[in-house]
Amino acid sequence: MADPEFDVVVIGSGPGGYVAAIRAAQHGLKVACIEKRDRLGGTCLNVGCIPSKALLHGSEYYAEAQSGALAKFGVKLGSVELDLPALLGEKDKAVKELTDGIAYLFKKNKVEWVAGEASFVDAKSVKVGDRLLTAKNFIIATGSEVALLPGMVPDGEVIVTSTEALDLDKVPEHLVVIGGGYIGLEMGSVWRRLGARVTVIEYAERIVPAMDVEVATAFAKVLKKQGFEIRTATKVTGVVRDGAGAAVTIEPAAGGASETIAADIVLLSVGRRPNTDGLNIEATGLTLDRGRIIVAKDFSTPVPGIWAIGDVVPGPMLAHKAEDEGLACADNIAGLTGYVNHDVIPAVVYTHPEVATVGKTEEELKAAGTAYKVGKFPFAGNSRAKTNRDTEGFVKVLADAATDRVLGVHIIGAMAGTMIAEAAIAMEFGASSEDIALTCHAHPTHPEALKEAAMAVTGKPIHI
Ligand code: FAD
Repeated sequence: MADPEFDVVVIGSGPGGYVAAIRAAQHGLKVACIEKRDRLGGTCLNVGCIPSKALLHGSEYYAEAQSGALAKFGVKLGSVELDLPALLGEKDKAVKELTDGIAYLFKKNKVEWVAGEASFVDAKSVKVGDRLLTAKNFIIATGSEVALLPGMVPDGEVIVTSTEALDLDKVPEHLVVIGGGYIGLEMGSVWRRLGARVTVIEYAERIVPAMDVEVATAFAKVLKKQGFEIRTATKVTGVVRDGAGAAVTIEPAAGGASETIAADIVLLSVGRRPNTDGLNIEATGLTLDRGRIIVAKDFSTPVPGIWAIGDVVPGPMLAHKAEDEGLACADNIAGLTGYVNHDVIPAVVYTHPEVATVGKTEEELKAAGTAYKVGKFPFAGNSRAKTNRDTEGFVKVLADAATDRVLGVHIIGAMAGTMIAEAAIAMEFGASSEDIALTCHAHPTHPEALKEAAMAVTGKPIHI
């Protein structure tokens, strides 16, 4: 039998797939990456992380200008107008530049980009159109797709998913978001800032249910202050087109009287499901577990030569988790020791204020019977936040009661997403809260609030 054409074929070019392909090529392996979209970058770059952050950034400028908040800093504006096509255009430019950037990196690293949909013939070969690609190793990085509720079918115009919510051609009067997870809240924030009335319907008792309860409660309070209507413990029983808009029927999650809400746009945002559609995965001998591919610590599957990473395997559906798995998987294929510490994966909600978490929540520690100490520090005591006139939120450090090792950090505040990296590094190195407290932090900066929260673990913060 002829030698396989490639050492590694990666299926899917999202943050998991493209990073794995480049790293494998850096190890001197012959690599191809198959992508069915006409652009590289997967969900994250095309319809996820990047376009949503572009809209969050632009809409925040608009909201600040429009609210008059800049006047106190001496910036006096005349009338402020929204140019939605310009905002959407800037988002599209960012997406194009970043996806083109991956094509450049593929060329630079000699990764062959194969355009089309991959379908396994057997565990050693895939078909893409008329072409058959054989490889010693396949990395499945086919990501995820929007999850849908039974009976709620998006039409792409009025009943939409996050993909269309990134491209609405006008600001809706009333946007109803079904699902109070981070994607729904970020997209809700964009359109709220641009002037929409936004109602969030969440089945669970609170929004972002997996988040530390104290932080999630503070978060809901801030969003309500910003004008969000949040209906928790509420079930959506139907969504139908109604004239130019839609009618959303809801009832209490525990049962009770139903109510109908009129919406211009309904955003279905109840989560994402692992995607192996069209892959003919059965031909490899692999079986799925609730749609997911189960992998070992090294990202191998039970079928020799087949590996999987990113949203298609268990764990949080986040781009940086997919990237790190891509790096580790490629290292393992090259005979090195790639590893991802799944206990230290930060997660960020890019609203204003941002919410960022890493490690265990207080509820998880209680459930596990772990004795812990808490240190908290509000941004109202942080000089930089005060100077910026943006003091909403706090930092919460959870440390082991016996060893003082940091077990979790939860932040709600303007710079939470950037600050969480320091907490992740500390946890990766097994730091104690005292280690953070004794580390010199530049002044005046937001991260000083993390230092003070660490100092608060022993009850001795200075600025509160
Ligand atoms: P994906 O990025 O989904 O890429 C998979 C690729 O595989 C796709 O391009 C698909 O076309 C391709 N593919 C699938 N099947 C085949 C096939 N048979 N043949 C060829 N190609 C195939 N995460 C964050 O960390 N931060 C954020 O701020 C963030 N914001 C988000 C905002 C939104 C609106 C959404 C929807 C998601 C967001 N995410 C964010 C999640 C993030 O996008 C995903 O976790 C990440 O993209 C997963 O990467 P992946 O490589 O596993 O798969």
